[in-house]
Amino acid sequence: MTLSSRRPIQPLPDTLISQIAAGEVVERPASVIKELVENAIDAGATRIELRVEDGGSKRIVVGDDGTGIPADELALAVLRHATSKITNLTELEAVATLGFRGEALASIASVSRLRITSRTAGAASATQFDAATGRSSPAAGAIGTSVEVLDLYGDTPARRKFLKSPASEATYCLETFRRVAIAHPGVTFHAVIDGKRDRSFGAGAWQARALEGMGEEYEQAHRVIEREAGPLRIFGLLGAPTLARGRADRQFLYVNGRFVRDRMLAQAIRQAYGDVLHGDRHPAYVVFVEIEPSRVDANVHPAKVEVRFREPASVRSLLFHTVQDALRTTAGQYRPPVARLPLAAGAAMAGTTLQTSLSLAQPRFARDAGHPIGDAGRSTHDAGAAPSPSGQRPFAAAAAGAATAAASAAALAFYEPAEIRTLAPAATEIPPLGYAIAQLHGIYILAQSRDGLIVVDMHAAHERVVYERLKTALDRDGMPMQPLLIPATFRATPIEVRVVEEENRTLVGLGLELTVQSPTSIAVRAVPAALARGDVAALARAVLGELIDEGASRALTERRDALLATMACHGAVRAQRRLTLEEMNALLREMERTAGADQCNHGRPTWVPLPLAEIDKWFARGR
Ligand code: ADP
Ligand code: MG
Repeated sequence: MTLSSRRPIQPLPDTLISQIAAGEVVERPASVIKELVENAIDAGATRIELRVEDGGSKRIVVGDDGTGIPADELALAVLRHATSKITNLTELEAVATLGFRGEALASIASVSRLRITSRTAGAASATQFDAATGRSSPAAGAIGTSVEVLDLYGDTPARRKFLKSPASEATYCLETFRRVAIAHPGVTFHAVIDGKRDRSFGAGAWQARALEGMGEEYEQAHRVIEREAGPLRIFGLLGAPTLARGRADRQFLYVNGRFVRDRMLAQAIRQAYGDVLHGDRHPAYVVFVEIEPSRVDANVHPAKVEVRFREPASVRSLLFHTVQDALRTTAGQYRPPVARLPLAAGAAMAGTTLQTSLSLAQPRFARDAGHPIGDAGRSTHDAGAAPSPSGQRPFAAAAAGAATAAASAAALAFYEPAEIRTLAPAATEIPPLGYAIAQLHGIYILAQSRDGLIVVDMHAAHERVVYERLKTALDRDGMPMQPLLIPATFRATPIEVRVVEEENRTLVGLGLELTVQSPTSIAVRAVPAALARGDVAALARAVLGELIDEGASRALTERRDALLATMACHGAVRAQRRLTLEEMNALLREMERTAGADQCNHGRPTWVPLPLAEIDKWFARGR
């Protein structure tokens, strides 16, 4: 907003007041900050300074270099329902500013001592206005506005009791500040908490600002989305599913520059991640929805954190597909976080085995040590599937011929020779995931890529590939079934028998033909062709187990994907299975062609790159 376009502050007409959702604006210090910072944005500020003392209850100051408030309007600014932003219902319905109710300053003034110092471009000096006395006096100050809130809730000790510790309130304040900052990348923000500079955001591109908001761990691990359809535009950054978190604390969703908590939108995003994220993990993202103001109502919630769309279904659908498409690119197009070696580990490295050094270099584990918000990734790695940083797999087990032979006999054949040939890449260029050079401890595939080394979690990667294959087959023309020449029979519990009888259609839909042989035995007569070489009885039991656990309560599609995941886990090559280089290369090529192959069905990474430059650093070797 430029000075020339600034309009005077005027009381709203009574009818319009009654059409405006009642505001409960000053719940806590962070609410004060939200209102003051939004006012600064509405005033066209390019620089906003925040000071918070004692969690905000002692003093909050928000200073800006915006248009300023003319001296003769300062008293109106703290009058309830007086605003310069709208004058009638038509303008309310198309409101483009963050504020419009003319309530915030009045509410804040009613629970604190409020002082405004402001100067417009035309004024010879600044004017300070004291809301308590209603008096103005000349003051020093540059063009812009500084609002000072002292002794918040000083006269209402009952409300002050509801505040948390100053440290917690300060954290809320910074979080609120961050939310506004993310949506306004062109504005420089500085926050100073108790005299110490705590957070600053320099002006720049929106992607950089969004990343600053999400956290540096997403620097390499995100994708950019951007899509437009008619009056609707969606853009933002999606954090990699592999860096999903235990809490939903890095989800920034905006509608027309306003931070919202819209359940419909959040669910659309969550569902789009669904395929690559385990149930209780939360993705990190910054997503902006922009839509013609007249197609959305921002006036349905006191704090304006909820909105109502005129055509919710189309917004939802565009958002869902935009996010889903971005997440479903194939492996190798997207870089998981680069493995980094913690400095201290360099010394410890000498004399340890390769196994140890690789697990030290696992990205999140290494980088986030001591990082206050960084241990989310740690818990996703289930101890059964991955080596613990210190524990090593017994080498003997992988090498023992007898054990390996038994394991491979039980496991399904990994790839047919014919498939291997069709999957072979053109010899001229190095594919993104490189060429296999070895198998490590029966768990990992090591591949040489253009930039260095790639470490692939064999089981997780294969599981993902099988899952996608099953899904594609099912989506296309039903699961191709392979009848077994000799049915496999297994001893069954009464519940398993009942499930076979009751859920026969579901089972056939999944490519499984099971019949009840006797009250205590079940025969497997056909299985999905892709899984025919495995332990079919174990596969059948796993699916029955899943059906028993889940019951019929869940929606069919949701259930279907969970069932396919179980089958894929079952069909995927097990750890300790020895693979030939051709088999390993076939898997790498198929990962490159498979949507979402960067993470397994549980949201863990399936591969990690170790660039030569990183390896060089271990040896202090300059290039
Ligand atoms: P609203 O933002 O809904 O209009 P507020 O109570 O927050 O209501 O502010 C009242 C009025 O005071 C605004 O309409 C605006 O004209 C003026 N104002 C408040 N803060 C600022 C600021 N930082 N810079 C310029 N004008 C401001
Ligand atoms: Mg306001």
